[in-house]
Amino acid sequence: LGSSVISAATIPTLSQHFPLCMHHLQVTLATAHKLKHFGRLQYGLFLKGIGLSLDEALQFWRQSFSNMSTDEFNKDYRYNVRHLYGDVGGDANRRGGGYSPYSCQKILSEHHPNPGDVHGCPYRHFSVDNLTSLLQATGVTDREVLKEVREDISKSRYHIACNRVFEHTHKAEIKRAKDEEGWSTAELDTIVHPNTYFKRSYLLKN
Ligand code: SF4
Repeated sequence: LGSSVISAATIPTLSQHFPLCMHHLQVTLATAHKLKHFGRLQYGLFLKGIGLSLDEALQFWRQSFSNMSTDEFNKDYRYNVRHLYGDVGGDANRRGGGYSPYSCQKILSEHHPNPGDVHGCPYRHFSVDNLTSLLQATGVTDREVLKEVREDISKSRYHIACNRVFEHTHKAEIKRAKDEEGWSTAELDTIVHPNTYFKRSYLLKN
C-alpha cells in the first residue's frame, strides 16, 4: 500500500482495519493524547510495518501528543521515533533499519502489561468483561461469536479468538474473495501477525 494510502492523516480512518490490540492503542492515543513506553513501541512498530514513513510517523506522533509543546516532543519523543526506524542509534540499528514490528507471539508472551497499561493482546491480557465491552464497542455484538471467543480464551487459544472475530467481521468479503476473485486458502491462512490482519482486512474491504 502506497504513501498516499498510509499517512499521518489517514491513520484514524484506517484503524477500522486494525486488530483489536492496535485499534485499542489508537483509540486510547486519540482520547488521552499519550501512550506509555511499551504502547508506543508496540503501536509505533505496527504503523511502521503497515508502511507509515518516518516523516509521516514523526508528524503522526507530534499531532497525537497534542497536549505537549513542540520543544517537549522534540526533546523526549522525536529521537525514539527515529530510533524505531533506524534513523539514529548504533550501527547495527541503522544497518538493520531499526526494529521489526511485533508478531502476535511476541505480543502475547513479552512485556506483560501492568494495570493501567493498554499494550499487549486484549484476548489474552484483558478480563473477559473488558474484552467483551471492547468487542461490542467495535461492533462485534453477535452472541454466538462472543460465546465462542470466550471458549477460545478459556482454552488459551488467543489468536484463534482474534481470527474468529476477523472471519466474522469480514464474512461477506471473504466469501466474495473466494468465489469471485479466486483467493486461495493460503491467502486466507490463520493470521499470526497484526500487520497481516491489517493488510488482509484492507485488501478485502477495498
Ligand atoms: Fe493483536 Fe495478535 Fe492479539 Fe489479534 S491475536 S489482538 S493481532 S496480538
